[in-house]
Amino acid sequence: MQDYHIQMDQHDPLSAKRSAFYFPQHDGKDALYFCGNSLGLQPKGVLPLLEQEVMDWRTYGVEGHFHAKNPWFSYHSIVTESLARIVGANPSEVVAMQTLTANLHLAMVSFYRPTKERYKIVMEAGAFPSDQYAIESQVRFHGYVPEDAIIEIAPRAGEHIIHHEDIIEVIQQNADSIALVMFSGVQYLSGQRFRMKEITDAGHKAGAICGFDLAHAIGNVELHLHDWNIDFAVWCTYKYLNAGPGGIGGLFIHDKYANAPDLPRFAGWWGYDENSRFLMKKGFTPSYGASGWQLSNAQVFQIASLRASLDIFDGVKLEELFLKRNALTAYAERLLLQLKVDMPHIPLEIITPKNVDERGAQLSLLFHEHGKMLIDKLLSDGIIVDWREPNIIRLAPAPLYNSFSDVHEFASRFRKHCIDLFGEQ
Ligand SMILES: *Cc1c(COP(=O)(O)O)cnc(C)c1O
Repeated sequence: MQDYHIQMDQHDPLSAKRSAFYFPQHDGKDALYFCGNSLGLQPKGVLPLLEQEVMDWRTYGVEGHFHAKNPWFSYHSIVTESLARIVGANPSEVVAMQTLTANLHLAMVSFYRPTKERYKIVMEAGAFPSDQYAIESQVRFHGYVPEDAIIEIAPRAGEHIIHHEDIIEVIQQNADSIALVMFSGVQYLSGQRFRMKEITDAGHKAGAICGFDLAHAIGNVELHLHDWNIDFAVWCTYKYLNAGPGGIGGLFIHDKYANAPDLPRFAGWWGYDENSRFLMKKGFTPSYGASGWQLSNAQVFQIASLRASLDIFDGVKLEELFLKRNALTAYAERLLLQLKVDMPHIPLEIITPKNVDERGAQLSLLFHEHGKMLIDKLLSDGIIVDWREPNIIRLAPAPLYNSFSDVHEFASRFRKHCIDLFGEQ
């Protein structure tokens, strides 16, 4: 019988996508790259698209706003439909702009409007630091004290994953005082995927607004933001969406707020009604939908590199991407668990949920000791995974470009490095 990984690669409907990306090189060969959760690989279409804009700038100068191949005047809109499909939204609900953290602040200006009775924010404990700082500073900005106003939900003692029931219970218990429920879609450290729809239902029942940070969810897990009735969401595009370092951020605003000119917001000229923007009139009239939250004219170069990646995504059936994700991650998990069976003395624990509905592409490997020494060995062997203090190695086989053979190769070299470090017995 043929090896599992070879068979799976042969029957993989997405296998051709791999060649649309550049892999970092190690000793003259493609490195084993499992960091798509941190910085996705570069699509080969990036340079041609960037070149188009650089040359249009050279050729047209300011006239490029209207005469460039893709006029810069409306450049932000060339990614809208592709993004809307990936997050499960109407195009009017999505805009590419700024960066994740900036968008989180802008969304909170509109959707975190605390009152004396209702001012608390429910969030996961140990959220990505930028989210913690953004939320903490918003709370202070409104004159509240983070220790009182922020309710963090942590895993139970000795555990690494948050129980869904605990989230719902905390929301119910604090129903009178919660203004905002703010979670990530997929937790950056543990890889836990939260049940976004159910959290949103519970939050709405409690009278709160519900927002999500999709940094680790977009391009990785199933999203139906519109149907789930999520109020707002923010994301970055350089992780599973491969838009490159500092890539353009994204914002989702549910259509129920599409025409809400009275909603407080920090406005800028690009959020102004498109038809009359250039009349340069006094008094802000927001454009319909999420685009009414834009501040500035389109960040053309960042959007161009995102466009190159979305050209690849557009040709992918998302169901196939998610099926491959499940199989690829489960394969990595199976090989690592086999290693644990063979060598129980390796101080490794996989903390990511086993249930495929509660995770995406990432496995978080907790090393009770020597994790730092191990990652140094891996990196110097051209195995690119990442390290999160104090003791976690994150491994993300990205289904768009990683193969089952990558995972197979990883597991056998990982085993060798573990034997080097921890001995056979
Ligand atoms: C990656 C990530 C960020 C990064 O924010 P930027 O504004 O893009 O620098 C924020 N939040 C989460 C949860 C992340 O995973």
